[in-house]
Amino acid sequence: MKLMNLTAAAATALTFATGGALAQERFITIGTGGQTGVYYVVGQSICRLVNRGTAEHNLKCTAPSTGGSIANINAIKAGDMDMGVAQSDWQFHAYNGSKDFSGDNKFDKLRAVFSVHPEPFTVVARADSGVSTFDDLKGKRVNVGNPGSGQRATMEVVLEALGWSMDDFSLASELKPAEQSAALGDNKVDAIIYTVGHPNGSIQEATSTVEAKLIPVTGAGIDKLVADNPFYAKATIPGGMYAGTDADVETFGVKATFVTSADVADDVVYTVVKAVFENFERFKGLHPAFANLSEAEMISGGLSAPLHPGAEKYYKERGWM
Ligand code: GLU
Repeated sequence: MKLMNLTAAAATALTFATGGALAQERFITIGTGGQTGVYYVVGQSICRLVNRGTAEHNLKCTAPSTGGSIANINAIKAGDMDMGVAQSDWQFHAYNGSKDFSGDNKFDKLRAVFSVHPEPFTVVARADSGVSTFDDLKGKRVNVGNPGSGQRATMEVVLEALGWSMDDFSLASELKPAEQSAALGDNKVDAIIYTVGHPNGSIQEATSTVEAKLIPVTGAGIDKLVADNPFYAKATIPGGMYAGTDADVETFGVKATFVTSADVADDVVYTVVKAVFENFERFKGLHPAFANLSEAEMISGGLSAPLHPGAEKYYKERGWM
């Protein structure tokens, strides 16, 4: 029996496919984020499309909830996961060995597959907190996010750019996305941070359980951050999307991207990419944050690591490259 060239994470098993033929089932794991976020839906949606074709290609996909971008990249690097969703800023840093990924943390085998939805850096504050600008967060109780999440790491970059530290908050809590909306409602914190696609259920929960509003993230420090880094861009969260915020909110943002390792076999990545793009209308219907996705933008925007050859093969076949 020929063993497939998969990462250590991809277990192999023998099963009898219909007709009695001996088929080799191959398991792949996709790292996502908290269950109330959009990454979880990205991973679940990709797996759903892949698993529709298991009888033909024998790939079986699972997408468990994880800590987010940084945790996913580290799990792929360790061979514990095959693919994952990660913010474009952390894709850049992991591949180039900068910020949290400097020194031994550098992951030059990181490969891009495609980008997904835009993710504005989103701040939500209780109406009774008196917070209406990012500067007002000084001295407040802020949920800065769980270690391993993209928003936590990006929040640290923002603080550094502004010359602040965690000590500038009276409380810097590390709740996960699934916990932070309730904490805002229960008045355990004044504000929460989430780098996430819109609209999403988590921010909806935060703004419907208590009077709260989205806070702009603007100013000279943010302008410089965007000007100096290709993976950041100005972003607008449309007014009217959430209760309490009728006007557009200016901030900056990144893209959600889908990544893997050079060690994952070409045919595995090819099969996953094909499952998504041959069912693209279905995929876009699986979350409102996917509504504006286009193939051309997904195979170019937000990608700084090289494309995985399995993905490139499919894009060339479709004539997109
Ligand atoms: N951007 C977040 C992160 O990197 C996750 C957002 C989501 O789960 O949709 O951790």
